[in-house]
Amino acid sequence: MTDGDRQVIADNSLAGGRLTIDLAALARNWCSLAAMAPGAETGAVVKGDGYGIGLPAAVAALSWAGCRTFFVALADEGRTARAIAPDATIYVLDGLPPGGAAALAADRLRPILSSLPEVSEWAAWKNAGGAGEAALHVDTGMNRLGLSPGEARRLAGEPATVAGLGLMLLMSHLACADQPGHPMTERQRAAFAALAPLFPGLPLSLANSAGVLRGPAFHFALTRPGIALYGARAAEDYPPLETVVTAEGRVLLVREAETGETVGYGATETLCRRSKIAVLGIGYADGYHRLAGSGDTRKGASVFIHGRRAPVVGRVSMDLMSVDVTDVPGVERGDYAELFGPNIPVDEVAHHAETIGYELLTSLGRRYERRYLP
Ligand SMILES: *Cc1c(COP(=O)(O)O)cnc(C)c1O
Repeated sequence: MTDGDRQVIADNSLAGGRLTIDLAALARNWCSLAAMAPGAETGAVVKGDGYGIGLPAAVAALSWAGCRTFFVALADEGRTARAIAPDATIYVLDGLPPGGAAALAADRLRPILSSLPEVSEWAAWKNAGGAGEAALHVDTGMNRLGLSPGEARRLAGEPATVAGLGLMLLMSHLACADQPGHPMTERQRAAFAALAPLFPGLPLSLANSAGVLRGPAFHFALTRPGIALYGARAAEDYPPLETVVTAEGRVLLVREAETGETVGYGATETLCRRSKIAVLGIGYADGYHRLAGSGDTRKGASVFIHGRRAPVVGRVSMDLMSVDVTDVPGVERGDYAELFGPNIPVDEVAHHAETIGYELLTSLGRRYERRYLP
């Protein structure tokens, strides 16, 4: 955070850390992704509580940017989104919960039908005069959600059933688009294009964030970016867009420790010099992954404080973590250290934790003080 930003944030928090969420950056990232796919409509994926930033704030900011189509995982999330965006199109990626058709229809949420049992239940609801529109997910190699190609052909062989479903979109999902040149990406595109004529006239959607980066052949009618909106890396060969989330931990105390002493549970890290250690009020219960901690045989992540990097020292505890500030002058109780944000990329911390930016963002938890920059 710059000093200018500090003035926006009160320093009287009772929390152990704070999140600063830059909604203008989120909106600009959406516009950047829209500009990369000028031939398509650009939607937005806001599942996982808006990738951790808060679904209502994400939907509000993205609506303001011009987004009209949202994807949530759960019908519950869809309800929250509907309250914020009364006129938007909202798709539910996890589809129709058993017996859930009336509830989805009441909020004009569109289930993305991913299996024949779901299709049957939705067909029964529609045949009985139920309201609502839906999408159909066909699997092109991920083997997660979606009708298999064989099932899709079988369904397409019953045109009356298909016509009764109120389908508005045909979609599939890419498994490897984050890896440049992965052969599966092109195989999935070709499989999707081959299945599309089974359902003539339906708009098509294939691209997640990484799919948007793979170029116009992947854009079809509607793109579904998620992670890139939130400022984390979407593909190995592209830098992230603007930082949206800054996570900081509050310095509880600064202590001195002697050469040869150890820090934290398990005594995994031995100090090789007299050190100044700052203890932060953030731990793995706040989503700061335990694997980002440090030891004698495996160095951990760093934080950013007073304009410098400071390495994590020892294990990350539930509510606490320690950083080595021996080389950072002036660190005091009440200061804040950036865990990730403009100076420490979220993907860097994720790398140390043997995970991905997605998991760090969606694990942020409820204990931070949250500040939304408009
Ligand atoms: C999560 C998800 C997306 C968004 O993926 P990102 O990699 O975050 O851009 C798109 N489509 C589907 C089906 C998803 O599950």
